[in-house]
Amino acid sequence: MLKISEIYSSIQGESSYQGLPCVFVRLTGCNLRCSWCDTAYAFFGGEEMSIDEILNNVKEKGISLVEITGGEPLIQEECYGLMTALCDEGMIVLLETGGSIDTVKVDERVKKIIDFKAPSSLMVDENDWSNVSRLTAGDELKFVIGDRADYDWSLEMIKEYELEEKTIINLSPVHNVLQPADLVKWVLEDGLDVRVNLQLHKYIWGEKAMGV
Ligand code: SF4
Repeated sequence: MLKISEIYSSIQGESSYQGLPCVFVRLTGCNLRCSWCDTAYAFFGGEEMSIDEILNNVKEKGISLVEITGGEPLIQEECYGLMTALCDEGMIVLLETGGSIDTVKVDERVKKIIDFKAPSSLMVDENDWSNVSRLTAGDELKFVIGDRADYDWSLEMIKEYELEEKTIINLSPVHNVLQPADLVKWVLEDGLDVRVNLQLHKYIWGEKAMGV
């Protein structure tokens, strides 16, 4: 059984899949406590569901793109079986994970979106950089940027791990903290091969809306 915070359909607000209809399966619980976390409601609570129950719920929505998110979904062991079962159904499966847990057991058909944590999150020491060596085609990275220091640190990591050559990189400003225009200016000044990733759902429904 898995502990599920919510399952809902919406559009994908982030990553290169932004704007596409998507079913979100949010697992309860997280091993991190990022300073700017916008999903703290998923730390506790939720409903026990079997993989079959989740599959049926997702299939009823009639959308072929599904994102497994949290919290940190990989802290629940059955998450791996859930992702494999969704892939077996022919769905495109995205996994949003915080970068602190080894992704070695993730089904190779899953498209991983790894959110490595920058210094202003206060979780920077939790990053497991061995995950870079497990990136495969279709995977993406996301750095949430709260200030210039986070941007400079991300730039350093991008160069150190040669990430521009390896994968799609999303730089996402913390909503209502860092102005997107500042981030765009820095990216252009440095000639980076990255996507500036605004959280589309917050522009459509506001920053506090849940289940959308
Ligand atoms: S990893 Fe995600 S859910 Fe967990 S504390 Fe950080 S932002 Fe919140």
